[in-house]
Amino acid sequence: MVTNFEDLVNQIKSCRDCKELFGFNPNPVFSGNKNAKILQISQAPSQNVHNTNKCFNDASGKKLRNEWYQITDDVFYDDDNFYISGVGHCFPGKANNGGDKKPPKHCADKWLRQEIKFVDSKIIVLLGRASANYFFPKKDFVDLIFNNQEIDGKLTIVLPHPSPLNQKWFKDNPNFEKKRLQEIRKIVQSVLFD
Ligand code: SF4
Repeated sequence: MVTNFEDLVNQIKSCRDCKELFGFNPNPVFSGNKNAKILQISQAPSQNVHNTNKCFNDASGKKLRNEWYQITDDVFYDDDNFYISGVGHCFPGKANNGGDKKPPKHCADKWLRQEIKFVDSKIIVLLGRASANYFFPKKDFVDLIFNNQEIDGKLTIVLPHPSPLNQKWFKDNPNFEKKRLQEIRKIVQSVLFD
């Protein structure tokens, strides 16, 4: 267990535990300060994030910032606003179905559990099924999205993954974009700007 945040960041950055599993050199990509207002936890970096070393530098990130949160790139990438992490810290490779492979569970157990202890955010945002299942394995994913949750006494919002591959979920749950998203945007913007 690391006792200092800077040491933790350095240890995660130099982690190569999954090199054999992935078959290529892992590249942990995450960002933010320990006093960031929002701790955002998603599945794992995409291939583009792996290649560019910039969190959410992909189609999912554009949708999340521009359409869902409705904030500028400058606000999103301000380290005092968002600490951006995932249940996996590295791109895990492509799966046969065209999506990405699942993140190794070992990563969240080893690193994310410690990040949560250090990052003193006002709220937590869980993005996608992988991060929701990690923290709430027994709860229904749709119920998690439509109701505010708590982790360690902290307000926690669950969002579906904004990936373009997730179109069926948006179609099956029209009230997300019609109704719930407005509530979530209000919470996120008030944490950032009020
Ligand atoms: S996915 Fe996590 S555990 Fe695996 S190499 Fe990357 S940082 Fe380490």
